[in-house]
Amino acid sequence: MAAGAPDGQPEEAPDIRHGVTLSFGFGSDRGLRRELNEDAFLAADPIFAVADGMGGHEAGEVASRECISVLSQQAVLAAGSRSATAVDLQQALRQADARIREISHARAGTTVTGVAVVEERGVPYWLVFNVGDSRTYRLSQGSFGQVSVDHSEVQELVDGGFITPAEALVHPRRHVVTRALGTGTDTEADYWLIPVEDGDRILVCSDGLTGEVSDEGIHRALSTLEHPQDVVDSLIQAALRSGGRDNVTVVVVDAARVDGTGPETLTQPSAPAEEDTLPRLPEEAPGANSVPPEENHA
Ligand code: MG
Repeated sequence: MAAGAPDGQPEEAPDIRHGVTLSFGFGSDRGLRRELNEDAFLAADPIFAVADGMGGHEAGEVASRECISVLSQQAVLAAGSRSATAVDLQQALRQADARIREISHARAGTTVTGVAVVEERGVPYWLVFNVGDSRTYRLSQGSFGQVSVDHSEVQELVDGGFITPAEALVHPRRHVVTRALGTGTDTEADYWLIPVEDGDRILVCSDGLTGEVSDEGIHRALSTLEHPQDVVDSLIQAALRSGGRDNVTVVVVDAARVDGTGPETLTQPSAPAEEDTLPRLPEEAPGANSVPPEENHA
């Protein structure tokens, strides 16, 4: 299920490279209703990711594991240099998409989101990526928010002004994703390139957390608990107390700048980002390539 670290073993050893110290925690729980845990995750500097498999009959488990396996190879290649780019990640995700299709004959799919720590001319950035409705959040300088934008039917309904975010939480089609790896026609990830500020905290999670715990509850845990592993454990327990209706996976990454570079030099990248940092608009009508809901309770 997990890659890059022994299951259940907190790993918070600081890793100092290129001016950023990262410490992190992680955990995954089957939840109280599901027979299998179809989530998978990676917590291996410089890549942190969560994948939520879908497809039933263990197919989802295979899809999320395959995706994390490919990202894990990318993490090994990038370890020590933080030289990975959005192009490298894009290639890895395309490879994951192809492998899942090959293995499952396009009957299984997976979401994936997370961050890679990359450098542009010596300045560290979070390269956030997303396909589907798992989520990446950031707490930075006291401000908290979701970075990734869900590829889901309810997100499109919210964007169109048809329902409110509160209604999306209980909408019957809230689990239907409009992009995934391994299935459907829309598999491209969105990317965001964000400077790493001293004290940043990143949360990567599956919808088994966000379906049970409000953004306010997540924000509270992120801002009040000091150690990343304590945040992870607290959020997983909160999801279980709230019903634990889905697999729940949480990765928390803290960054500390150690090179004395002031934040004023970070807010303006020294060179324009070459990568696409804007979410892509869906090319087709909402739901056009959705996985049928009964197969798609990611
Ligand atoms: Mg899920």
